[in-house]
Amino acid sequence: MEDNDRIKKILIEQGSIGRENGKKISSYGELSINDGVTRPAGTDLDKKTRDYYTELCKKNGFDPFVDVFGNIFVTIEGTDPGIIMMGSHLDSVVHGGMFDGAMGVFSSFEVLLRLKESGYKNRKTIVVAAFTGEEGSAFHQPMLGSNGFTGNIPKEKLWAIKNRDGMDFKSAMQRIEYLGDSEFPGKPEYYLEYHIEQGPVLEEKKKQIGIVTSITGQCVLSVEVHGTQGHSGTTPMEMRNDALVRAADIIAMVDRTAREASAKYKNHSVGTVGELSVDPGRFNVIPGYVSMKIDLRSEHGDSLAYMKKGVISELETKKNGVKIDYTIVTEVEPSIMSPEVMEAIRSSVKSLGFSYMDMPSGAGHDTIPISKISKAGMIFVPSIKGLSHTPLEWTDFEDVERGLEVLEGAVKNLDKI
Ligand SMILES: [Zn+2]
Repeated sequence: MEDNDRIKKILIEQGSIGRENGKKISSYGELSINDGVTRPAGTDLDKKTRDYYTELCKKNGFDPFVDVFGNIFVTIEGTDPGIIMMGSHLDSVVHGGMFDGAMGVFSSFEVLLRLKESGYKNRKTIVVAAFTGEEGSAFHQPMLGSNGFTGNIPKEKLWAIKNRDGMDFKSAMQRIEYLGDSEFPGKPEYYLEYHIEQGPVLEEKKKQIGIVTSITGQCVLSVEVHGTQGHSGTTPMEMRNDALVRAADIIAMVDRTAREASAKYKNHSVGTVGELSVDPGRFNVIPGYVSMKIDLRSEHGDSLAYMKKGVISELETKKNGVKIDYTIVTEVEPSIMSPEVMEAIRSSVKSLGFSYMDMPSGAGHDTIPISKISKAGMIFVPSIKGLSHTPLEWTDFEDVERGLEVLEGAVKNLDKI
């Protein structure tokens, strides 16, 4: 391990921006559940983080390019065609931690600095990107900047999206002085995102590095079950249309079909009903109405389709005179990582001698839209107790340094292709 003091110092400093008490925290033990990091896209605290980052870039001789979505790019030109991009996001959820997104941006910049300082002669152009509004904590659309950069969502449509205060995305970027006047010239051939795991698997399996195989796809269904409300004492069982009993069948089906899909496809497939409301919700009244949401996720399209089919066939089965309405509210296909990029990461990990495992990502990332236009891959490092999106989110600096060295090695491997 080399000079990891610089990245550690930078991460601690940036971690004070948007923290309720502005405190600089340097270890897990100093965290408090009351002092999270809050910097949703387009807020003054988002601007402060961006200013800190762009100052850091300028101090080190880089000239940051800001595009029409507020994404920030810094570049080392290569001699050959092709772009290798590293990136993540600087915004955070409300009361989140200082590593989600930011660790990836500042570490990618650190890699750029190490390449420059070591006199590395890159063939391809190497770019670090800080994407706007990945979290969807200010606007109702996550991955704003990366969806704009890739053209996955058209510019005018993105610009018109409003935040919780009713301000549109374009005006919000203008207000914080991060609305550039042109798009970034060029798209990546390879994209690498370095991120905290945000889950407990690496810690549990005692592995230092996670190589992401895919980002899980998701299908969310909103379901309404219409039964008949009645007296729980006087209505005989055969005369009931109990909405909650029918909902219970559906919930059991969600659990069963997810277990079946995991076994059949031998992958990470999950199904959850975590939101349910019962009307009128009294112990002595037969439930007349239930609304609930079904969340299905899988790392492969086939198993996601299997679960969706199973759940929909249950929803369309007529039983006990109960009527069911459903709509699909979210449907995202899994994003499969590039085998070439995974191999570049794997050979970097192996040469550094760190322990590693292949794993899917259950959380969404900027890599989702970017994987549609580029060969993409992700590197994970452990999150203590698997915590993220909470003030108690933490990753040890030794782990940050390990992932960063893997990232640097992977960039060099891709540069040789
Ligand atoms: Zn993130």
